Amino acid sequence: MSSTDRISGSLIDRQLSDSSADKGNVSGASIKMGKKYKGKTCVYCGNALATSMDHVFAREFFLRGDRQNLPQVPACDGCNNGKSQLEHYLTAVLPFGGRHSTAKANLEPVPNRLSKNLKVRKRLYVGWGKSWSKESGVYVLSSTQPVDNKQLERLISFIVRGLAWFHWQTLMPPNHYLKVMALTESGDRAFEKLMSHPDLHTGVECDLGRGTVVYKGKQGLDQPEITLWRFLMYGGLKFSDEEDSGESASVICAMTGPAVMMK
Ligand SMILES: [Zn+2]
Repeated sequence: MSSTDRISGSLIDRQLSDSSADKGNVSGASIKMGKKYKGKTCVYCGNALATSMDHVFAREFFLRGDRQNLPQVPACDGCNNGKSQLEHYLTAVLPFGGRHSTAKANLEPVPNRLSKNLKVRKRLYVGWGKSWSKESGVYVLSSTQPVDNKQLERLISFIVRGLAWFHWQTLMPPNHYLKVMALTESGDRAFEKLMSHPDLHTGVECDLGRGTVVYKGKQGLDQPEITLWRFLMYGGLKFSDEEDSGESASVICAMTGPAVMMK
């Protein structure tokens, strides 16, 4: 993603399909509750002693009724605070790009949340505008919102380390390789193919909050640091460039691997 990507959305209310409404729970993993962090290492830095359980996806991404059974992992104070700051910004800005019905409902508490942090509020409303985008063959006027991709990448980096531990008990080394991308339709098809590579585990598929966050993950058979993730948030966030090339992305993917992959 370029650092000037914009997120745009027409906030179309879409009814959830029956199939996605039925799959509300995390599959293939048990929820860690209570003082399960005691004596555990923080899964985000892989270094400090954990002091609490942290929701891998902040509860604020979800409507109040959809916050049960969200994945939790042991975290230290430092990581918890750093991640909270990213979440404070992104839980406010991301619903603007969603097409899912919960994205619109999620916007309602945003002004209240933002009034507590003027800095975030300023950034959120700077650059507010309208743009034309193509939806199912027709151009529609939609509101656009600049998104700080560095912050989104940093949050995804926390999330993939959290999920690797939650699903497979893999503690990622602190200096591992990470690549985060917003995928266009053709990019998504290529990534799906990559995810079905025989050297990757069976993997996980989860739907949290009735389609609010849908993700898939795969892990390397021999090298647990190799993981591939595909995230669909709010039914697909629309990312487009400042110089709109006409092709927009709606899926976020992430790959991790050993540090040597950085070369
Ligand atoms: Zn930590």
